[in-house]
Amino acid sequence: MGRYTLAVLPGDGIGPEVVAEAVKVLAAVGKKFGHTFDLRYAPFGGAAIDSSGSPFPPETEDTCMNADAVLFGAVGGPKWDTLDPVIRPEKGLLALRKAAGAFANLRPAKLFPELADACYLRPDIVAKGIDIMVVRELIGDVYFGEPSGIEVRDGERVGFSNMIYGEYEIRRVARVAFETAMKRNKKLCSVDKANVLAVSRLWREVVTEVSREYPEVELSYMYVDNAAMQLVRNPAAFDVIVTGNLFGDILSDEAAAITGSIGMLPSASVGGPDMPGLYEPVHGSAPDIAGQDLANPVATILSAAMLLRYSLSLPAEADAVEAAVAAVLAEGYRTGDIYRDGMRKVGCSEMGQLIADRV
Ligand code: ATP
Ligand code: MG
Repeated sequence: MGRYTLAVLPGDGIGPEVVAEAVKVLAAVGKKFGHTFDLRYAPFGGAAIDSSGSPFPPETEDTCMNADAVLFGAVGGPKWDTLDPVIRPEKGLLALRKAAGAFANLRPAKLFPELADACYLRPDIVAKGIDIMVVRELIGDVYFGEPSGIEVRDGERVGFSNMIYGEYEIRRVARVAFETAMKRNKKLCSVDKANVLAVSRLWREVVTEVSREYPEVELSYMYVDNAAMQLVRNPAAFDVIVTGNLFGDILSDEAAAITGSIGMLPSASVGGPDMPGLYEPVHGSAPDIAGQDLANPVATILSAAMLLRYSLSLPAEADAVEAAVAAVLAEGYRTGDIYRDGMRKVGCSEMGQLIADRV
């Protein structure tokens, strides 16, 4: 029985709707397992611009930094699209990630067997199951490497971006990946391009060094081109994948796409041990369906499950949430985005209530 402080940032669009359902589910977890979740709501994104002029006001930052973890919905929408880029709602998200030192992005790609018929892959491949966790380095690599730019050299334009990693950056994300593997099936695949890139050779060396701290974890290496192919040919071969920012950007989208709807996919961004983890659905604020009780809350509910597992170290509680989601899907309940003929169509709040009840 524990007491935990969570910062809750509903944000914009469908954010408040899906977060409300995740909160219902957390309340059910608290009741079942005897925990107290002390929820601290704070304005964020467009909602915060409206109330205070900033997408990530100092009070919100304080609330987040003093919490055990942060749960948020989504930010942005047409109302704020015409604002100066420096105070856009999305800037709040970047500022939050930076404040929390969130250098590792965890994106699970899990196919619920109940939704297998919506999967793009061959049935015999789907039958073997897909349950992968991509750990992507989030604040380094070619996106931030200097020097970068476009210059004129010898009379023609030249563009260049620097793929650069320091060993400290590699080591800390590798540790997150090994810790994640320890909480799952103790299997980790490090993805790089070490046959061509010097930076990848260092990546491999440092991951190998870190692996000595985790003798129980079975470590393998794969080149990124092969990994992209194996993800669609034999996804069951993967458990945890760790990779750099650029390769992770591509592979995490690929892994997500093979499992189906964006309304189902959670994510976590984590930093140092004394920093709060950030948990959010992969999808955005979906202004086209906001305020109509149509959104699928499962991505946010599964984000709350990740929060329980990774920030609060409550695996049984996380399992209970995931099992409740699977149970409700098995009973045929579907929001519009995953609906098919013959299923039971429900709205956002009913879906959340059903999952909370099953917990
Ligand atoms: P952002 O820039 O914030 O990522 P976006 O417009 O690129 O926003 P989303 O907001 O994720 O992307 O919306 C993309 C499409 O997916 C929209 O048609 C939206 O209605 C749909 N969608 C997104 N999230 C959900 C959800 N939870 N349930 C149902 N449909 C969703
Ligand atoms: Mg988008």
